[in-house]
Amino acid sequence: MRSLREGQPGLPSLAGMQIERVTLRWPRHIATPSPAVFRRRIGGRTICDVRRRGKYLVFPLDRGTLLIHLKMSGDLRLAPAASPPDRFDRTVLHLRQGWELRFSDARKFGKLYLLDDPSLVLSRLGPEPLERAFTHRTLARRLARHRRQLKPALLDQSVIAGLGNIYTDEALHRSGLHPLRSTDSLTDGEIRSLWRGIRAALRNGLRYDGASIDWVYRGGDFQNHFRVYQRTGEACPACGTPIARMVVGQRGTHFCPTCQPEQSS
Ligand SMILES: [Zn+2]
Repeated sequence: MRSLREGQPGLPSLAGMQIERVTLRWPRHIATPSPAVFRRRIGGRTICDVRRRGKYLVFPLDRGTLLIHLKMSGDLRLAPAASPPDRFDRTVLHLRQGWELRFSDARKFGKLYLLDDPSLVLSRLGPEPLERAFTHRTLARRLARHRRQLKPALLDQSVIAGLGNIYTDEALHRSGLHPLRSTDSLTDGEIRSLWRGIRAALRNGLRYDGASIDWVYRGGDFQNHFRVYQRTGEACPACGTPIARMVVGQRGTHFCPTCQPEQSS
């Protein structure tokens, strides 16, 4: 995302570019409005900035706002119009400056929204964990609203925005909490340690960011620095116990049975 906003060697910044037209090879990418209206309204718009909110990439336009949710397999690339396309490029924004913003999406789960008021979608999201206003008390309040298992609660974007499967596993390991702990069983101290764990896991991801677009979710070589995520059977970096895996809410979940005991002690 930073590279789209600020540019990088060989790539200009997206801000200031004008959208000439769109190619829709998978019209169901368009969540709202209808593909026909989307096609008509997006032509001629200028991209003013590139931001992120939760898992959405946010493009304020000279009129309205474009939101893109990459979902599982989506990838967004700025490429010269003359360069060969990727076979999974489903939606392509053709830019007047000779570039294309290509949304490649093998599994087709991604979505685009063109809205006058982006809060229609974004106001459903919980707070951003790295923002100053997100304190351990905010976290405690949000977790207290429902009694549920800890990991699905953290993945719920309306509770906290932006935590995916990787960061949730990493944050829980850093905080020494079992993924199935009930949200209403957490002590004040455990909430504080969870709060620290979430922020430390996200910051660590940022530190290893390469040139990837979606810096929070796909940091450059962050995958080489996971503590537990997809390290089943390897030694826990804190205590040496083999990392265990289980499925929670259909998501593969990695944890240390010693550092993250099922019952609080
Ligand atoms: Zn351990």
